Amino acid sequence: MTQMRLVVVGASGRMGRVLMRTISEAPDLLLVGAVDQPGSEFVGRDAGELAGLPANGLKISDDALTLFAAADGVIDFTVPAASVGYAAFAAQARIVHVIGTTGLSPEDDAKIAAAARHATIVKSGNMSLGVNLLAALVRRVARTLDEGFDIEVLEMHHNRKIDAPSGTALLLGEAAAQGRGVTLEENGVFSRHGYTGPRKAGDIGFATLRGGTVVGEHNVIFAGAGERIELGHRAEDRGIFARGALAAARWARGRKPGLYSMTDVLGLTD
Ligand code: NAP
Repeated sequence: MTQMRLVVVGASGRMGRVLMRTISEAPDLLLVGAVDQPGSEFVGRDAGELAGLPANGLKISDDALTLFAAADGVIDFTVPAASVGYAAFAAQARIVHVIGTTGLSPEDDAKIAAAARHATIVKSGNMSLGVNLLAALVRRVARTLDEGFDIEVLEMHHNRKIDAPSGTALLLGEAAAQGRGVTLEENGVFSRHGYTGPRKAGDIGFATLRGGTVVGEHNVIFAGAGERIELGHRAEDRGIFARGALAAARWARGRKPGLYSMTDVLGLTD
């Protein structure tokens, strides 16, 4: 098969730079566009240099739609409003759109689902193999244990992160809820402060820590009477998300339009 032609949006971001480096190391992938938002100081800069590589002659552009029209797929770790717009462009161009952006609202999700009528979209709050495997384990443990075990999701990230709890914490909370046969909307508890009263059986609690340069740490705790099970994941390097996102792009190539998750990509559906 020919090389898959990819555009990275949010190219100047932490993930954007790692993605461009990772693509440059993959012989079956070709970076054909790097996009930042109009007005960004990085527009016009060399994409290779921005990624910490030798100059590659590819200039950062603010014209996403033109680049999408000549590409097979787009990799997107940006902000919710941008991802919704890029999904509409990906639908127009009928290409693959891998979305790693977190913090999307239900309205954003609905727009992305609409775009998935024409684009092949893979969206996940965490693209790493380890976290998706962890989610499958959490689903399994939650299915086995009853409400006698309290479920709490604890996460820590670097001090630049702008949404909370993390997309990964929500993904793990969803997995726990699915395992229990309940919904996170009804059972999720996202903050506790002041006189809260005792914990309600069946709650799925979240706690958020922020600081330093932590790439991402998650723990799911099942706390029972006299015993506790803890399942966790430590991300040490953003490369795990980039490699997962590129695996998703390869998987989605040639697949019919629709909205898919990393569970589909990794074959972890049970
Ligand atoms: P970041 O360093 O802040 O990068 C965000 C990028 O998006 C920047 O290039 C930024 O450009 C661009 N951007 C911001 N607003 C935009 C707009 N309106 N239109 C177009 N582009 C815009 O953030 P990051 O750490 O790379 O993370 C990005 C996202 O990925 C976050 O939502 C994060 O939670 C998520 N993430 C997901 C995973 C996963 O596995 N799913 C893993 C890691 C991170 P400017 O500099 O011009 O603002």
